[in-house]
Amino acid sequence: MRGKIFNFQRYAIHDGLGIRSVLFLYGCSLKCAWCCNPESFIPDNKFIREVEIEEVIPWLLEDKPYFLNSGGGLTLSGGEPLLQPEFAGVLLKECRGHGIGTAIETCGEVPWSNFEAVKGLVDYYLYDIKHLDPDLHNTYTGSGNSGILQNLKRLSLDKAKIYLRVPLVPGYNMDEKQAHKIAELAGDISAEGINLLPYHRFGEDKYARLGINYAPAGKISIIPEADRKHKVLEFAGLIRLHYSKVVIGG
Ligand code: SF4
Repeated sequence: MRGKIFNFQRYAIHDGLGIRSVLFLYGCSLKCAWCCNPESFIPDNKFIREVEIEEVIPWLLEDKPYFLNSGGGLTLSGGEPLLQPEFAGVLLKECRGHGIGTAIETCGEVPWSNFEAVKGLVDYYLYDIKHLDPDLHNTYTGSGNSGILQNLKRLSLDKAKIYLRVPLVPGYNMDEKQAHKIAELAGDISAEGINLLPYHRFGEDKYARLGINYAPAGKISIIPEADRKHKVLEFAGLIRLHYSKVVIGG
């Protein structure tokens, strides 16, 4: 079974619990204005390559001692990994067979049947929430959020373990109303926790290498570092008023 990927990273500590290997699958159903992985959705770019599952397993087995010692494992990320549900399903099943932990980082914007393809094979989901207003979600990501929220609720009803991940984008989703709504959502779906991911510009050079304009220019408020830190801490505090399991990073 072959899949399309654009990156593989070892020793990751921000993509799930413990030390992880992260396989970045090509393709995304959103186009977020702040995306730091534009190679996940730009067609025919030089980062894309095809891999066989038999090729990936030895990469993971090499790091299995780290996984076992740290509670880590494989995280499928992207792009949107569930746009390749068959590949993801077979790979995760192999991981189960080899005693390797599994997680999926998803934007949630896929048909429910894609989640069903990996049912029972995922230890937990890292589920992105960008904005809870459908129009603002659409303006900054190119899609509304109704399917995303519907899938999230279905996962929760299936008793899946879910961590909500919120990219904190200045001038977009860092206000009191969002903080309240995100906290409420986390409670409703019995989330394991909320990870707040402060906006950064690490992907900027990739846009240049891909020959495209840096998408956030003009859309994201650029604020001084000190103010940004203060706003991130303030936002975390606002969530904590209603929901305690919130951390910055993760
Ligand atoms: S969901 Fe993630 S990978 Fe896809 S466009 Fe948005 S930020 Fe980029």
